[in-house]
Amino acid sequence: MQYEILHALSKVGGRSVCDLDDEGPTELDAPIIGHVVGQVVLTNSGSGIAATGRLRATVRMECSRCLRAVDVPLDMAVSEDCALTQIDDPRQSEADQIPLLDDTVVDLSELVRQLVSVHTPPRTVCSAQCRGLCPHCGADLNVKPCDCSTEQIDPRFAALRGLMGE
Ligand SMILES: [Zn+2]
Ligand SMILES: [Zn+2]
Repeated sequence: MQYEILHALSKVGGRSVCDLDDEGPTELDAPIIGHVVGQVVLTNSGSGIAATGRLRATVRMECSRCLRAVDVPLDMAVSEDCALTQIDDPRQSEADQIPLLDDTVVDLSELVRQLVSVHTPPRTVCSAQCRGLCPHCGADLNVKPCDCSTEQIDPRFAALRGLMGE
């Protein structure tokens, strides 16, 4: 995700367009599947580098009910304050502006990493109808009902059945 565009950005008003179709950063809770695609325009605003544009990526998550892998597409509007500071400088982790420099090259991986982590939902389901796993035996109830589900009859229904002489 590196771009040799530093000279264009080094003066106020300088602007650079980055077309992305790259593998994303790897150090994410939900890994990126495939490429990060889109466009980011970097503009030197005088007080920093404004990053605007739109990026798309797909992250692999787990269904929070059945734990099946679910690929979640992310459509990310980009509007971030960045700076021509070094990504690996530990002081940058406290900064409000996202660092863009890897040595002398503009590198968007920290920008993308922050965007993806902000846009990744805290949880997802494989489908709204997902039945999840049986809390007793762990069987995937989307595949077939397990034996526990027939034994776990609501006691009120059991009493009713008793009254009906079943
Ligand atoms: Zn599921
Ligand atoms: Zn079960």
